[in-house]
Amino acid sequence: MRKKIVAGNWKMNCLLEEGQKLTSEIVNMINDEPIKDVKVILNPPFVHLHGVKKLIAGVDTIALGAQNCSDKDAGAYTGETSAAMLASFGAEFVIIGHSERRAIFNESNELLTEKTKQALSNNLTPIFCCGEPLEIREAGTHEDYVKKQLTESLFGFSEDEVKKLVLAYEPIWAIGTGKTASSDQAQEMHAAIRQHITSKYGKAVAEGISILYGGSCKPDNAKEIFSKADVDGGLIGGASLKSRDFVDIAKSF
Ligand code: 13P
Repeated sequence: MRKKIVAGNWKMNCLLEEGQKLTSEIVNMINDEPIKDVKVILNPPFVHLHGVKKLIAGVDTIALGAQNCSDKDAGAYTGETSAAMLASFGAEFVIIGHSERRAIFNESNELLTEKTKQALSNNLTPIFCCGEPLEIREAGTHEDYVKKQLTESLFGFSEDEVKKLVLAYEPIWAIGTGKTASSDQAQEMHAAIRQHITSKYGKAVAEGISILYGGSCKPDNAKEIFSKADVDGGLIGGASLKSRDFVDIAKSF
């Protein structure tokens, strides 16, 4: 049975008090309305990690994640944050290869391999993102595009390493646009991703990996998307900043 996961990616949002209020509201709702068999992950900006960790202490359903990590161990890399630091602050997950990091910060498939190595060697679970831009979707080559992202970043890892990953499929044209992929489009790509993992690592490994959908996921479409066989949850942007919406999405299985 694969893990069901709903992860909130706050992106670069929330001042100190806003982040604390959001976290406290989510904690209170989940304490009042326990969610069974779903791991809820909060991925705030780095500066919130310590505060959020304190607020979620003792709530088993909720875990802490970060949005990025350095590809380096430690040292003179001003402005960077290492995977070891994240782990020491209580993070269990880290988003790697979000399309915004790829597009705005020029992160290549090769760099993302190094970040994934850092995460794994510090016992963080990478939430490894992939997804195609609109022009690729319109050209009909989206499956090949996403498979190439995965091959180039991940296929040098061992079976034991790959087993530890969570994947997230986020079609770029659906991120922050209000234009979600249809549940059939999501299922088709998630199945293709799982098949691609199977081709390299075998069925047992591929069947164990949770694949999340991201892109304009909201309370009113989450149930339909999460009902698909290969969709194991969501990576939520905008709606993760609203406690009620985020918790409702986490209850949508
Ligand atoms: P939205 O839910 O705002 O479309 O963002 C999705 C996303 O990028 C999550 O990582």
